[in-house]
Amino acid sequence: MNYATEQRKSIISYFEKRLDESVSAADIASALAFSVSKSAVYRNLALLEKEGKIVRVQSGDRTALYRYVASGKCEGKIHMSCVRCGKTEHVSAEAASRFEKALKDADGFSLNKGECLLFGVCKDCSGRVK
Ligand SMILES: [Zn+2]
Ligand SMILES: [Zn+2]
Repeated sequence: MNYATEQRKSIISYFEKRLDESVSAADIASALAFSVSKSAVYRNLALLEKEGKIVRVQSGDRTALYRYVASGKCEGKIHMSCVRCGKTEHVSAEAASRFEKALKDADGFSLNKGECLLFGVCKDCSGRVK
């Protein structure tokens, strides 16, 4: 296996261990600092994004975050991310299909569910006084 393949594998396995997390290029670069150079991280992220294996989302503070979507577990799922605790969960199938249908009916918009990330406050955090 050549060096470039090795680097790509490290990045993919980093993502696979963090299926429902959105991570920044800096997170990946620092976690893999010993095996993957910073420029290789950026190069691979661009490539994986083009291949549709990861999606890029903008966080609240405008940092680009990446989430791995090539795992079967997350395929076609709408993700919701809690702005307080950072936890990401899947929208229930029922809510997702109602949302998808409502958008289609009202706005004629076909949603790419697997690429959606919603921000809000999760069940655990909403009951809690901050
Ligand atoms: Zn997921
Ligand atoms: Zn939360």
